[in-house]
Amino acid sequence: MERAQLLLLVHATTCFTIKMAAHSAVLSMSKIINPFWGGRLGNTVKVFGTTLTSHRNKTLLTGENIPPPAKYGGRHTVTLIPGDGIGPELLNHVREVFRFSCVPVDFEVVNVNSALETDDDMNNAITAIRRNGIALKGNIETKHTMAPSVKSRNNLLRTSLDLYANVMHCQSLPGVQTRHKNIDIMIIRENTEGEYSSLEHESVSGVVESLKIITRNNSLRIADYAFKLAREKGRRRVTAVHKANIMKLGDGLFLQCCREVASGYPDITFDSMIVDNTTMQLVSKPHQFDVMVMPNLYGNVVSNVCAGLVGGPGLVPGANYGNAYAVFETATRNTGKSIAGKNIANPTAMLLASCMMLDHLKLYDHATMIRHAVLKTMNETRLHTADIGGQGTTSEVVQTIMRIIQSGGQLTTEL
Ligand code: ATP
Repeated sequence: MERAQLLLLVHATTCFTIKMAAHSAVLSMSKIINPFWGGRLGNTVKVFGTTLTSHRNKTLLTGENIPPPAKYGGRHTVTLIPGDGIGPELLNHVREVFRFSCVPVDFEVVNVNSALETDDDMNNAITAIRRNGIALKGNIETKHTMAPSVKSRNNLLRTSLDLYANVMHCQSLPGVQTRHKNIDIMIIRENTEGEYSSLEHESVSGVVESLKIITRNNSLRIADYAFKLAREKGRRRVTAVHKANIMKLGDGLFLQCCREVASGYPDITFDSMIVDNTTMQLVSKPHQFDVMVMPNLYGNVVSNVCAGLVGGPGLVPGANYGNAYAVFETATRNTGKSIAGKNIANPTAMLLASCMMLDHLKLYDHATMIRHAVLKTMNETRLHTADIGGQGTTSEVVQTIMRIIQSGGQLTTEL
């Protein structure tokens, strides 16, 4: 046998062994945690008295596009936008974990330089996502000191690709100390209009008008997304967040659309809450919330409050879906500039975002294997980064995750 053929065989055997080990990891992990994403989805079976969810027959989420098919050899190409701050280092760790776990994904890296005033980089990134259908990204810094004509690159990406639904699943994680336990809230945020229209002008000196755009079409489709998702996930209640008492026309239209859509879902309770009360209720009685749907800016605030409730921005992944493309990132979209390059950022949110991406590509076994290793590291080794009270570095956490993957999901004595 040729040396190249031999190497290929060894590689394939290693991948197969890891994959098989992942199955036993799923079984052992199911005793201590529920799957992070899709905890109420799919076929469930009892294993040793614990509910185990199978992703095998998982249906597509509402509004999720059909994922891009694998290329020759079963591999996928994903656009990777490192972004600024901690984005590049966290995405390097994702690549390291993917390589180690033999994930059949190749990354096409597109750098976007936020210091430039031109949109050329961004256009390249958008073209690459159109080509690949899917992306994983860090947050691109928007310097508010730059000219008003320089718009947020992150926003440009979402609007250009019509990624109208932002989805964040805020769930208490095992091993993370927080004031409130057992939080499980899904936030569906309108992602392309509202206060993010970037349509502003100074009508007379000292008077600025900023336009908030609410359209019936978009409000109906985001409400529909929220209700379909709620039904698919077996959720019971959808809460629309608004400020229609002040913005009677704009938020009034959003709320009206939610009501209209709700009438088609008699099995799901619909209610609404004014945004200021919502934030207060979230920090005092978060368990009353199930699925929440809201316009863009409220979504930004509410997502950050919810991330804070379960331990912070380093823990929660997020996804942006349109009908044609999907882009994955951390839920609170931080650049974390002040902690960049110090090897202290929490890699959890980005790794879990990469698992959501693998689920979207239907690489469920790889997603489960990595997700369980991340959660096991957090819960059983208690190796935590400083943001959640530990002293571990980013690389130590990632190394431990890889060792758990290597050991087939088991903790070994060397850990
Ligand atoms: P910016 O210049 O973008 O405002 P920043 O670091 O000051 O950067 P954010 O990026 O908005 O602020 O992040 C908010 C807070 O969350 C910061 O204290 C940041 O250190 C922290 N943070 C964000 N992501 C992570 C992470 N992955 N791990 C640990 N801390 C994080």
